[in-house]
Amino acid sequence: MIRVGINGYGTIGKRVAAAVDTQPDMCIVGVSKRTPDHEAAAAVDRGFEMYAPDAEGDAAFSAHDLPVAGTTETLIAESDVIVDATPAGVGAANAPKYASADTPVVFQGGEDATVAPASFCARSNYDETVGRASTRVVSCNTTGLARLLSPLDEQFGVKSVDCTLIRRGGDPTQSDRGPINDIVPDPVTVPSHHASDLRTVLPAVDVMTKGVTVPATLMHLHSLTVRLENAPSREAIRACLHSERRVELVASACGQDSCADLRESAHDRCRQRGDVWENCVWSESISVDGRSLSLLQAVHQQADVVPENVDAIRALAADADAETSRQMTNDALGVGLDSPLA
Ligand code: NAD
Repeated sequence: MIRVGINGYGTIGKRVAAAVDTQPDMCIVGVSKRTPDHEAAAAVDRGFEMYAPDAEGDAAFSAHDLPVAGTTETLIAESDVIVDATPAGVGAANAPKYASADTPVVFQGGEDATVAPASFCARSNYDETVGRASTRVVSCNTTGLARLLSPLDEQFGVKSVDCTLIRRGGDPTQSDRGPINDIVPDPVTVPSHHASDLRTVLPAVDVMTKGVTVPATLMHLHSLTVRLENAPSREAIRACLHSERRVELVASACGQDSCADLRESAHDRCRQRGDVWENCVWSESISVDGRSLSLLQAVHQQADVVPENVDAIRALAADADAETSRQMTNDALGVGLDSPLA
């Protein structure tokens, strides 16, 4: 069993902890967070041991009747792998603690790429993390792009990519984020940072990205044009994407008209938190003109990196190859929404 500790139990950390808990070869040692809030209470109710950053944190948790099993330092020492899901920048500050305990660590996409010797997307570059002491799962948007482009590159050869990322303003609980009533070039510079982030896992791809932020919390939406080496048929593209379990072909013809419909589908399938782990590519949007492919996809920012974190743990701490790991993760989680094909 790979003993996993989660440092940072917020939007991403609690989802990764739940996903790890379903894996046959992993167990949760405990979780650590700063604030004794409702998420901490839910973690304790779920049976996860709670660790506090320091003695002051311990007292704060105890004051709220939340039992503390030890300090974060103990959690790090007792774990085979740590998933650091603290806010962007805190992971880099924590890095020396993991190094001095000799505990391998998975960082998140909010950290700079320099935080770890490798960046990670299980479909693109799993092997680059094997044998390392740490890795960084790329951001939600980059994960969505890498997952889509890797199989297209393998089958048809990707020459270049042009993508506009229509980004959600914040997660549903981030009521301090915006815009409330605007459409904001974000960043206003082109290419956006997503292009260089994508190159950390797909270095050969010639990619242009532009970011726009809108008043939404549900998902991001990507509008892509991909120039390919070979001219494929539309059917060949559909077959290629349909064979990927972390890419779901969804259809407006079947009522999947919007991001809200996609999240509702996940709730209807009794997914915890209504999470959509898969890229959702609208079937009707797939359009081929010679060697040029255009499509629209949505990615659920809170969820798509979750199976990637599970695979990153295996890449750091187990012998499983990329395909075996992805299949184990997918099977244990139940990846694949089985949307009706149109
Ligand atoms: P979050 O704010 O929801 O959760 C962070 C958690 O860390 C909270 O539980 C907080 O109590 C805890 N924390 C804060 N400081 C800490 C410290 N010093 N030690 C231990 N715990 C501490 O953040 P999040 O949205 O889950 O983001 C975590 C990482 O994942 C970031 O790098 C972010 O960029 C990345 N990410 C976020 C999303 C998203 O949509 N939310 C998507 C992909 C990647």
